[in-house]
Amino acid sequence: MTDLVTFITTDYAGITRGRSFPAADLRPGTGQSTGWVPANMSLTPFDLIADPNPWGPTGDLRLLGDEAARFRAILPGAATPLDVMCADITDLAGTSWPLCPRGMLKSAVADLQTETGLQVNTSFEHEFQLFGTGLPAAPAFSLQALRQVGRFGPDLVAACQTMGLQPETFIAEYGRDQYEITLAPCNPVQAADRAVILREVTRELARIRGWRASFAPKTALNGVGNGVHIHYSLSDAAGPVSHDPGLPGGVSTRMGAFTAGILRHMPALIAVTTPSQISGLRLQPHNWSSSYTWFGDADREASLRICPINRIADREAARAFNIEYRPADACAGPHLALAFLIRAGLQGLREGLPTPPLYSGDPAALTPAERSALGLQRLPDTLATALDALLADKVACGWLQPIALETYTGMKRREIALAGPVPDDAMCQRYAAIY
Ligand code: GLU
Ligand code: MG
Repeated sequence: MTDLVTFITTDYAGITRGRSFPAADLRPGTGQSTGWVPANMSLTPFDLIADPNPWGPTGDLRLLGDEAARFRAILPGAATPLDVMCADITDLAGTSWPLCPRGMLKSAVADLQTETGLQVNTSFEHEFQLFGTGLPAAPAFSLQALRQVGRFGPDLVAACQTMGLQPETFIAEYGRDQYEITLAPCNPVQAADRAVILREVTRELARIRGWRASFAPKTALNGVGNGVHIHYSLSDAAGPVSHDPGLPGGVSTRMGAFTAGILRHMPALIAVTTPSQISGLRLQPHNWSSSYTWFGDADREASLRICPINRIADREAARAFNIEYRPADACAGPHLALAFLIRAGLQGLREGLPTPPLYSGDPAALTPAERSALGLQRLPDTLATALDALLADKVACGWLQPIALETYTGMKRREIALAGPVPDDAMCQRYAAIY
C-alpha cells in the first residue's frame, strides 16, 4: 500500500489546500517542495477564482515543506494515515512569496523580536458544532452532551496528543451540539500550524462517523456562534513580561502598548480575523462574542479580555497571565490572522501607546458621547464595511504588500458577490458546509 504525505498551505479564504506524493519519497534535509499556482490565492470559499485577479493563468510557485511541521496520526477508522507537512509558499528559487500567510507570520514575528526583543506566546481556542449525529439535544455544558458523542472527544484529544498539538481541554459548550477544544500556548507559527491541523482532524473524525463538524461562525441565523479566541502573552529573553500586579488589570506597560495597538486597528483587523459574509452575525452585543472595540477584565462581551488567573495551588501569575482576542472565527486563516494581530501589537509598542481603559458594562446602554470617551467603537458587522475599514487604515494596509492587498480585497469582494447581499439561514448553511 502507498501512503501519501500532503504539503499544505492555508490561504486567504482560510481553506487548507495542498498536494500529495508518496510518503516513502520524503527525503529529510533535502528541501522538498511541490508545485503551486499564484492564482490559487484568489480562490473564494465557493471555489471560483476572483476575476479579475492580479495573477491570471500564468506563473508558478513551490510549496516548500517544513520538516519541523509534519503532523502524522492514524485516526481510528480512517482508511489511510493523516500525514501532512505545513509548507511555505516560495518562488522557484525557494524565496518566500510575499503573499504567503505563513511567511507573513514569520516576518511579523521576526520584526517584533528585532525591534523589541519580545516574543508572543499564543494559542487558538476553537468552538465547533457536530451535525448528523442523530443524537437528541443535550443540556448546555452537560456531562450528557460530552458522553453522548462517545469516543469522539477521546479520539480528538488522542489525535492531538499524537501530533504534538498539546490539547488542554475538551468541553461541551453552550450551544446545541457545540463543543470546544483548547490547546496549550506556544510560538505563533506553531500555534497557527496547530490550529490548521486541529480543524482538519476534527472534521475528519466527524466524517469517519458519517457526521459533519462545522467551525462556521454561524450555522443558523439565530443559532449560537462558533468563535475562535486567540490568547496571547509576551515574553523576552528573561521570561514572561505581560503581567504587572501594580498596574490596572495587572497589565504591564509593554503588554498594554501591544494591546492598545490591536484595539486601535481592530476595525481593520476584522476584515482578516472575521472575514466572511456571515461573520458579522456573530459580532453582535449580548452574544459573548465581542461587538465593540472594547478592553475588559474577565468580561466575555469584551473584544479583548484579560483572562482570569487560577490562583489555586500557587500557579505562577506571571506565566499564566494572558489576554484573549475574541473577534476571530474559522473563516480566517490562522497564519494571516495572527500576522495581523502581531503587526498591530508591534505598532502599539512602536508608538508607546498607553494601556487602554478597562470597561465593564453594556456599551449599547451608553450614549454615543460616553462610548466615544471610552473609545468604544462598534465593530464592522458586514464584510463590506470591514473591507472599507481595512482600506481606510493606511497603517494596516501597509502590513500587506500592495499586490497582496489587491488579491485579498478582490477575493473578498468576489466572495460577497457569490454569497449574496443579506445573510440568511441558507447562507449560514452554505458556509457551514465549507468551514
Ligand atoms: N460562542 C461565543 C463566541 O461566539 C463564545 C462563548 C465563550 O466561550 O465565551 O465567541
Ligand atoms: Mg467557548
